[in-house]
Amino acid sequence: MIDLHTHSTASDGELTPDQLARRAAEKGVRVLAITDHDTIAGIEPARQAAQCLGSELQIIPGVEMSATWGSQGVHVVGLGMDLDHPAFTQGLRALALAREERARKIARDFEQMGMPAPYEGARALAAGALGRVHFARYLIQQGRVNSLRKAFKHYLRRGKPGYAPAQWPAVDQVVAWITEAKGIAVLAHPARYPLTRTKLRALLTEFRAAGGQALEVISGTQTQAENARMLTLARTFSLHASLGSDYHGPGHPWIELGRLPPLPEGTPGVWELFS
Ligand code: AMP
Ligand code: MN
Ligand code: MN
Ligand code: MN
Repeated sequence: MIDLHTHSTASDGELTPDQLARRAAEKGVRVLAITDHDTIAGIEPARQAAQCLGSELQIIPGVEMSATWGSQGVHVVGLGMDLDHPAFTQGLRALALAREERARKIARDFEQMGMPAPYEGARALAAGALGRVHFARYLIQQGRVNSLRKAFKHYLRRGKPGYAPAQWPAVDQVVAWITEAKGIAVLAHPARYPLTRTKLRALLTEFRAAGGQALEVISGTQTQAENARMLTLARTFSLHASLGSDYHGPGHPWIELGRLPPLPEGTPGVWELFS
């Protein structure tokens, strides 16, 4: 059982890397990629936990990098990078900076709405990379909303008063950081972007030209019909297929680690590219 897209407390997941590795082992996962938003801080602790468990759980070093394609935000999962490669670490620094700047902007908006110390409040709820989910948790703490979903719906989504655009790098740039570090670039949850079929094809063309090698055909955030459509696209564009739950923790009970439909027989899997 393979799961190549998961989050820990190093970004906006609910479980520590240690707890994530334990739960994966319990659920029968054999290959687990830790793919936190714009950070690799969860990988080493997860590896150590997997070792202590003495199970056959293999941890793949991963990341989910934020990027833009035109005005559309997209996510690129990187798998198996050399984590010390200078191009990659420089990329992570650029993303951390963009994330920090955006957090300051969100905090300023919240202050204008009369909320107390939003930056410090969100920071206190984050163990690592600061993201919108931590501001959502802050809104719940402040009694402004009673769920993450509502926090995004009323405050944090594009067009809402707490939305601040981040200056994410272009998707080609992000793919280059991953591939230069000998990693495999996977376009994450392709059915989640509000793009027409034509636009999605144009994105895939550019992604592939930039060195992208795989498509997240099966995602916990996609329907079965969407997965099927993405499989066809992967074949058309000669991209290897990846699969991942996009697990964020037990508070999101509709998505579980490793609980993914299998790829059809004969589909080239992204793991065939692992060295
Ligand atoms: P960020 O990378 O900081 O912009 O945050 C993006 C993350 O926010 C996603 O990976 C999800 O974990 C979370 N997210 C986005 N939309 C929603 C939503 N409607 N409800 C709950 N969480 C969301
Ligand atoms: Mn997330
Ligand atoms: Mn994502
Ligand atoms: Mn994700």
